[in-house]
Amino acid sequence: MSNKIQAIRGMNDLLPKDSALWLSLEKTIFDLFISYGFKNIRTPVVEKTDTFCRAIGEATDIVEKEMYSWKESNGESLSLRPEGTAGCVRAMIEHNLPREGIQKVFYQGAMFRHERPQKGRYRQFHQVGVEVFGADTAKIDAELMAMTHSLWQNLGLKNVTLEINTLGSAEARANYRSVLVDYFTEHKDQLDEDSTRRLSSNPLRILDSKNKDMQSLINAAPKLMDHLDDESAKHFDEFKAYLECLNIPYVVNTRLVRGLDYYNRTVFEWTTTDLGSQGTICAGGRYDGLVEKMGGKPTPAVGFALGLERLILLIEEQGLLINKTPLSIYIVALGENAQLKSMQIAEQLHHALPEAILYNDITLASFKAQFKKADKANADYALILGEEEIQNNQIAIKPLKGQGEQQTMDLEDAIQYFKN
Ligand code: ATP
Ligand code: MG
Repeated sequence: MSNKIQAIRGMNDLLPKDSALWLSLEKTIFDLFISYGFKNIRTPVVEKTDTFCRAIGEATDIVEKEMYSWKESNGESLSLRPEGTAGCVRAMIEHNLPREGIQKVFYQGAMFRHERPQKGRYRQFHQVGVEVFGADTAKIDAELMAMTHSLWQNLGLKNVTLEINTLGSAEARANYRSVLVDYFTEHKDQLDEDSTRRLSSNPLRILDSKNKDMQSLINAAPKLMDHLDDESAKHFDEFKAYLECLNIPYVVNTRLVRGLDYYNRTVFEWTTTDLGSQGTICAGGRYDGLVEKMGGKPTPAVGFALGLERLILLIEEQGLLINKTPLSIYIVALGENAQLKSMQIAEQLHHALPEAILYNDITLASFKAQFKKADKANADYALILGEEEIQNNQIAIKPLKGQGEQQTMDLEDAIQYFKN
C-alpha cells in the first residue's frame, strides 16, 4: 500500500491550469453584483453550531446529516459553515447594520457539507451568494432575477430555466401543512423512511424529496398555491409582472419548497438539464422571519446562492470561453548585463502593459533552452536581450505564434508594438 499524501474525499484542489477560468468567472460575477449596488461581506468559515441550527432549521438535510461539527474543550459545539446566509444574518444583527438602511451584500467562499461526493456535489464547494436586508417589495426579488439573468447572458449560457414558487406567509404555510399531513398520512404506505420521519417533523420537505418512486404521489399532492394568503398572492403576482416586463421567462413550479427551512413567499431556482441530477446552479428566496428568529429586529430579507463548481461544469459543458487570453511575453536574456536590464524592462512593461503576462526568464540557461521555455509557457512573443541589443540599447521581438519576422527596436516602440 502506498502512503502517498492525499486530500479529503469530496474536497478538491483547484490546480493552476484551471485557475484562469475560476478567476475570470469570479471577477465577472463580482463586477456585475457591484454594478447593482452590492457590497462584499466576509464572515468566518466557523460559527457556533447553534447559529446554523436556528437559521437553517433542525429538520433539514443539512442540520440532520450534512454538517461538520465538533466540540470545543469548553463543551461548545462549532461547525464549518454549510451555507452563507446564517453567518450573514448573524453579522447583520451583531453589527446592527439593517438599522443604517437597506443592506445589499454579496459573499463568496467555501462551504462544507458531508454529502456523497459525485459530479456537481462535493464536501467542500464554493458559493457566491447575495442577500438584501430591509426590503420587502417584489421589486427587489425581481432585481435579483434581472441580475442573475444578465449574468447568464454575459457568460453566454444556454439552457437555463428560472423556476419560481411562493411559500406564502407563516400562517398560510401552517394551514397548508395540516392539509398536506392529511394527504400523506392517507398514503403512508408509499412514503420512504426519510419522508415518514418528515411527516411529523417537516412535511413540506417531502415535496422536495429526490426519491423517484415517490414522484407521482408528490405530483398529486395538494398545492400551497391553493392555500395562499391574499398578501402573498399579491406579492407573487407583482413578482411575476416584473419578470414579464423584464422579458425573463419563468415557470411556476408548485413543488419548489427549497431545502432550507427559513424561506417564505418568493422562492426560485435557476436550473439546467445539462448537468444530470445536480441541475440547480443558483437558488434562493425570501426569508422575512429569519432576522427576528435569530434575535434581531424584524427585518425582511431575500437572497440566493450560486454554486461555482456547477457553473464551471456548465460553462465547460457548453464550451463557453469566458476569458480572452491576455497577451503573453517571455523575456529571453543572455549575459550578466542582460539579466540586470531584463529586470528593469520587465518592470517597465508591467507598468505599460498591466494586462499582459510577462515571464522573465529565471533559468539563465542558453538562448535555445530559454526559447523552449517560452514555447512551453505558450507565450505570444519572445522579447530578446542579447549582447548586441544591450550595447545598442535596443530589444528584439520575435513572434512565437504564426507569422512574423524578428524585429529590433527601442523599448518605447516595443511598447507601442505590443499595445497594437
Ligand atoms: P441540492 O438540492 O442540489 O442538494 P441545495 O438545495 O442543498 O441543493 P442550496 O443550499 O440552495 O442547495 O445551495 C445553493 C447552491 O449551491 C445549489 O443550487 C448548488 O448550485 C450549490 N450546492 C449545494 N450543495 C452543493 C454541493 N454539495 N456541492 C456543490 N455545489 C453545491
Ligand atoms: Mg443539498
